[in-house]
Amino acid sequence: MKLSGQVAVVTGAAGGIGRATALAFAEEGIKVVVADINAQGGAETVSLIEAAGGTAVFVSCDVRDEEQVKQLVATTVETYGSLDYAFNNAGIEMENQRLHDGSMRSFDMIMDVNVKGVWLCMKYQLQHMLKQGSGAIVNAASVAGLGAAPKMAVYAASKHAVLGLTRTAAIEYARKNIRVNAICPAVIDTAMYQRVCEMDPKIGQRIPELHPMGRVGRVEEIAASVLYLCSDGAGFTTGHALTVDGGMTAV
Ligand code: NAD
Repeated sequence: MKLSGQVAVVTGAAGGIGRATALAFAEEGIKVVVADINAQGGAETVSLIEAAGGTAVFVSCDVRDEEQVKQLVATTVETYGSLDYAFNNAGIEMENQRLHDGSMRSFDMIMDVNVKGVWLCMKYQLQHMLKQGSGAIVNAASVAGLGAAPKMAVYAASKHAVLGLTRTAAIEYARKNIRVNAICPAVIDTAMYQRVCEMDPKIGQRIPELHPMGRVGRVEEIAASVLYLCSDGAGFTTGHALTVDGGMTAV
């Protein structure tokens, strides 16, 4: 689990999985750039990191906006001198609906954040990592990127796309000392999960049982896996989609 880099960027770090991962990086002595559209939540993450003795700064960034993403990478390098690890985690869920009921608006919203956002972040992170000669990127996919997700077709498509971007980038930069992997969580206890339960309480009640372990995951369990993928111990691992799912996809 040794992390020899110095600086990490985490998008969507104002809460949930992103915040837990930002905290985990900071605990390992990594300086963290906390990026999000939610300034209040982002500032809270920075305060939590500082209270624990770590170093972090909040940068407001909408991952759909090319200029803001470009600026995020530039600010990271100006502030802390490098960009060694990136966790492209910002993502949104969709309302439960069958494919034939979907709208253009919802399709565009999901694809903009979950696919265009990850692509844009990778584009500018990779430009810097190529100059630097090293780096490790982890993208937030999902078990919905590995198979069907009934009533969440566009979300599933967006997470399949994240894996397409991850695997292809892994090959393109394999000889450049840059590794690119993805994390595929099942349901994790975050605000996103709470919203899904509120949308359909019946489905919400059944969710823990969909996991062979009989429970949903904890944010710290995802953070630990992201740090592993960034660590020197994963030095020969690239293009991998790591499932962290309480056994869900083993069934
Ligand atoms: P969350 O809703 O708790 O947090 C997501 C964060 O992303 C929020 O802080 C939000 O402000 C930020 N964000 C949203 N749109 C943004 C944008 N355009 N630019 C920058 N930041 C933006 O979600 P979470 O549960 O922590 O999920 C994090 C990631 O993990 C997502 O990509 C999600 O799809 C994925 N995921 C979550 C689960 C789960 O069950 N929670 C399961 C599998 C995958």
